[in-house]
Amino acid sequence: KIAVIGSNNVDLISYIHRMPELGETIEAPDFRLGCGGKGANQAVAAARLGSEVLMVTRVGNDIFAENTIENFRANGIDDKYILRTEATSGVAPIFVDEKSNNSIIIVKGANTLLSREDLENAREDIAQCQLIVLQLEISLETVYAAVELGEELGIPVLLNPAPATPELSLERMKGVEFIVPNETELSLLSGMPVESLDDISNAAHVLLNVGIKNVIVTLGARGVLWISQEGERLIEASKVDAKDTTGAGDAFIGCFSHRWVKNGDIAEAIRVANVYAGDSVTRLGTQTSYATAAEFEERTGE
Ligand code: ADP
Repeated sequence: KIAVIGSNNVDLISYIHRMPELGETIEAPDFRLGCGGKGANQAVAAARLGSEVLMVTRVGNDIFAENTIENFRANGIDDKYILRTEATSGVAPIFVDEKSNNSIIIVKGANTLLSREDLENAREDIAQCQLIVLQLEISLETVYAAVELGEELGIPVLLNPAPATPELSLERMKGVEFIVPNETELSLLSGMPVESLDDISNAAHVLLNVGIKNVIVTLGARGVLWISQEGERLIEASKVDAKDTTGAGDAFIGCFSHRWVKNGDIAEAIRVANVYAGDSVTRLGTQTSYATAAEFEERTGE
């Protein structure tokens, strides 16, 4: 079982001809409501592939919470710690124009209130899991608490340091089994420029030196560079006709977690997660682009 301790939100996407001017009201010919949040996306990807997933997250006391809870249930995710909060749910009003430019507003809402105490209350259930998966859309104090809990319980932790923030204390990430940044996030965390593969390797060693065990850098269409004390390996992405890469990183992490918990082979988990994330970018949307195990097998043979 995988414990995802993180965020959820509801995307409110208006498709418009052009961005409104200040003070202007315009019509949107189309609108979609989608489930998102990095934590929720990663949980959904892993669950669709067949993993048991425990989601520890906070939702508000509004109609968006109903939608989010229903989505977790529909994906077979354990909802025992989807905690109702006297707050607004996390929502993201998104505007997409005809040229696919987007403007996004994130209301973190209840996500900011997930606390160390919430994790303590879930301790016995988290203790049954084989991996804790974290991102940075909740308070950093709660991220630190989750890393400490993983250490106390002897459960490996995977951190996806997104969205990137320079405030994350690397010292407190000591002992983390996997850190999975993209190039921007790696650069910000290490304080080093990241352009060539050599730069990536050097920056990754900053993270290894604080005691993080594996640095798995996602490189978009180039795939992944995996760096550990044993050495480094470039594992290529699949060649696909990319239509929408939003949520590709989350698809990668959901699939990597699923495969690694299943068989403990890091290189193999990265290889399959590349194929899974590559498949997801051929379809529009975030969670809507994540295949189930059966669809994944049918489309890719994995
Ligand atoms: P993020 O979306 O978090 O910035 P990346 O862009 O690095 O993350 O993408 C994550 C993973 O998704 C990549 O490592 C790769 O496996 C897959 N991916 C992303 N873009 C493409 C693409 N154009 N072609 C094939 N695979 C892709």
